[in-house]
Amino acid sequence: MKFDDLGLSPETLKAIKECGYEEATPIQAKAIPLIQMTRDVVGLAQTGTGKTASFTLPMIDALSGGRAKMRMPRSLVLAPTRELAAQVAENFDKYGKHHELNHALLVGGTSMGDQMKLLEKGVDVLIATPGRLLDLFERGSILLNDIKILVIDEADRMLDMGFIPDIEKIVSLLPPTRQTLLFSATMPSEIKNLTTKFLSNPKEVSVAPPASPAKTVEQFLVHTHPKGKDRILMRLLEQEKVESAFVFLNRKRDVDTLGKFLKNKGFPAAALHGDMPQVKRTETLEKFKEGSIEILVCSDVAARGLDVKGVSHVFNYDVPMSADDYVHRIGRTGRAGAKGRAWMLATNADEKFMDAIERLIKKKLDVVEIKEKKKTEKKIEKPVKKTQKKRSGSDGGGADCLGFGDDTPAFFK
Ligand code: ADP
Ligand code: MG
Repeated sequence: MKFDDLGLSPETLKAIKECGYEEATPIQAKAIPLIQMTRDVVGLAQTGTGKTASFTLPMIDALSGGRAKMRMPRSLVLAPTRELAAQVAENFDKYGKHHELNHALLVGGTSMGDQMKLLEKGVDVLIATPGRLLDLFERGSILLNDIKILVIDEADRMLDMGFIPDIEKIVSLLPPTRQTLLFSATMPSEIKNLTTKFLSNPKEVSVAPPASPAKTVEQFLVHTHPKGKDRILMRLLEQEKVESAFVFLNRKRDVDTLGKFLKNKGFPAAALHGDMPQVKRTETLEKFKEGSIEILVCSDVAARGLDVKGVSHVFNYDVPMSADDYVHRIGRTGRAGAKGRAWMLATNADEKFMDAIERLIKKKLDVVEIKEKKKTEKKIEKPVKKTQKKRSGSDGGGADCLGFGDDTPAFFK
């Protein structure tokens, strides 16, 4: 569907055009009209299908009429991780660039001075992780009585991270007459309960069976043994035309170890996991988005929902213990119609988890035999190509559409 037919404001349409978008994605086409009618909406769609714009676009128009009062934000977006919250903020920046709206970003692990000053003055959109928000609320720094729109984004991830009690608490602090929107890739029963409890007569829109991987991702399986994984991975990194890749592991300490190992072997790799200091996480992510780091070795929590352009590959160094996680992991590639390749390294011990994954995605992965790289082969014969181009969120538009890659991480205007 054309954006022009969605009844968005000329300013918003202009910003969308500048991002190079031609058509609304299916979830956008379905959710936007309902949100415009001030309905409560549950939006279910695979990762990478443009859920963020589904709520940011109509919200920008809805909020453009009014003004925020001191310390009383007018709308609230809850996101599970700092990175995802920052991404939502970026979306408000790029789609709202022709509006006068402002927003504050409240996430753990960063200094809050500027954001608190903004809040004091009044913000249109408050974007926050649940823990940080409650913390500040309890200190009396924020008033939530003027929230007219609440968005719970990446709800299934909130569940995985144990945020449901925090969310329940936050919702109980909000005015009962408000519009509530909930977006998720999957719909576990706990999320279903949340919608029954906190949404009023919600309309559910879904565009693909939950937890189904994008069709644009080719999926392969390599059988190996635990000690062979490093060498298989190196072999794959050399053989495949890797532009940039996520490598997923199940344990944080293994993330560090593998990150260092690959770096020592000459790969442009770095580690990302939840125990790293926030400054380091942001820096690593920025480098990955710019292209100076091409291989991001990470844990599930660090990478869920991250939207990075040009990710050609996902390598599952470990088989995830939850089948849903597999779908999320491989959803880092093949985004917005691009092609991607996902590789899984599995050992005999992973059989049970592999079965669960193949049951969920309703297909068997293509088994490929890969010879381990010999221990004696020290040098990389064909190092991954060194591209320096920026790719974060650059949807073919101008510099304003760059996310973290843009030098001005202005999460507010
Ligand atoms: P989700 O939250 O569903 O995982 P995102 O909102 O992060 O997905 O969007 C994924 C990518 O698709 C982003 O890079 C975004 O800029 C891009 N995108 C969103 N809407 C469109 C559109 N209508 N046309 C083209 N690209 C889009
Ligand atoms: Mg999202």
